[in-house]
Amino acid sequence: MTELNDLSPAPLPKVPRLSKSKFLSGLQCHKRLYLDVHHPFLATKPDAATQAMFEMGTEVGELARSRFPGGVLVTAGYRQTEAALTQTANLIQDLTVPAIFEAAFLHGGVLIRADILERVPGAEGQPCAWRLIEVKSSTKVKDVHLEDLAVQSEVILGAGLTLVSVGLMHINTGYLYRDGAIDLTELFAIQDLSEAVAQRRASVPERLAAMTRMLLQPQAPAIEPDRHCHTPYDCPFWDHCTKDKPARWIHYLPGSKQVVSLLAQQGVTTIDEIPAGTKLSPVQHRVKENVEWVSAKLGTVLKAVQYPVHHLDFETVMLAVPRFSETRPYQALPVQWSNHIEQATGELRHEEFLHKDVSDPRKVLAESLLVSLGDRGSICVYSPYEKSVIEQLAVVLPSLRTALQALVKRIWDLHPIVRDHYYHPHFDGSYSLKEVLPALVPSLGYADLAIKEGGHAASQYYRMVFVETDWVERATIEEALLRYCERDTLAMVELRRALKEKAQMRGEMG
Ligand code: SF4
Repeated sequence: MTELNDLSPAPLPKVPRLSKSKFLSGLQCHKRLYLDVHHPFLATKPDAATQAMFEMGTEVGELARSRFPGGVLVTAGYRQTEAALTQTANLIQDLTVPAIFEAAFLHGGVLIRADILERVPGAEGQPCAWRLIEVKSSTKVKDVHLEDLAVQSEVILGAGLTLVSVGLMHINTGYLYRDGAIDLTELFAIQDLSEAVAQRRASVPERLAAMTRMLLQPQAPAIEPDRHCHTPYDCPFWDHCTKDKPARWIHYLPGSKQVVSLLAQQGVTTIDEIPAGTKLSPVQHRVKENVEWVSAKLGTVLKAVQYPVHHLDFETVMLAVPRFSETRPYQALPVQWSNHIEQATGELRHEEFLHKDVSDPRKVLAESLLVSLGDRGSICVYSPYEKSVIEQLAVVLPSLRTALQALVKRIWDLHPIVRDHYYHPHFDGSYSLKEVLPALVPSLGYADLAIKEGGHAASQYYRMVFVETDWVERATIEEALLRYCERDTLAMVELRRALKEKAQMRGEMG
């Protein structure tokens, strides 16, 4: 006898209300939307750096409201839908309110909150019309912003309001802040996108209907992970969707994603299956070969370094809203350095600097840096970033310009040396310090540190200086920042030593 359960179809999922962020998830990938709605716990939580970006976006959004004096915020939270809709309806009726922030609308099963809705004169016979403005902490209009505004417009128009224009308010990186109050009209640019958004809006109902049908299915759609998983944002379900992929899955091949997609379309599932004769970049070629490789010239290039060798690393912050005179939004400001100094004898000394208050860090940082680096020896770095930071300091600090420019001539970048002269299978095609270090120096990593990567360091620095008031918490962050930056420069010391050994083993160092 057949069990009743064998014949029962899987229970159909209930379709919840969509939001604009869910609509955008669905545009990226229907499977992402399905998982977002029915299995959200499968998502990887945002890391500390992403979380910090969200927080910066919130700060920018709040500041943007100041450009609309008299505007009123809908205070009901994101889960208090009915209260938010009622508050919005009341504010719309109140003709003395010039703008509404976080206005809530529900239409066609989609709930949205509009960043800024500005009341503007209506046509004859109409009490008023509205301008919809989306606020982003980005520096330019992106395709996803048009989609975002398209779904919002569709819902607001469906709810019965008249929209005369639709625009995006974003950060203007051309704004040069000088002392005093921030000029909000300069900090923010508003771009009218009415025409482009109207074109996108036409397809919103059809797309929403397709998403709703898909959400009613008992299973998530069978969509294979590919390039779309990283555009316009990294999908939080990447780890879930790729958990059963082989260790040498073709999508782990670094470099051109076009090559990867083409190979995948040809049925190539692993890097080892790439047909001989396929045009690959040198790095892709090494990943395919998957064996340790030491260039014949490694020893010679390592010998070019001058003692004492300084190993230098900066940490920087990029503030969306500038705080220091003569700075622009998102300008990288150095706030910390670490220097490991190695003598020809092998003797090692460590020096460091961390700017801990809300004042402009640049001059005091540059002065301490010049003392530490002195006027002799190579300055070993692991990216072109340190050079560009020193060059920018030279531009804004005329009294130190000559000395800073002299440092630039001593810079010796270890990154291209590793890239061009050594490969280890554990690099997995990446030459970042965080990948290279454990392969060459397994005893030294970042796992024991409270801060493990640069984005987290920047967000923690911001917290320590501009947010945190508890001195114990500030001291904890300070220690974590110092240890992180120190590890980056110690990593370079050990990396140089490990590479020298590799070259010696090859008989190059004599
Ligand atoms: S990882 Fe890719 S395939 Fe999986 S849900 Fe996200 S976007 Fe879709």
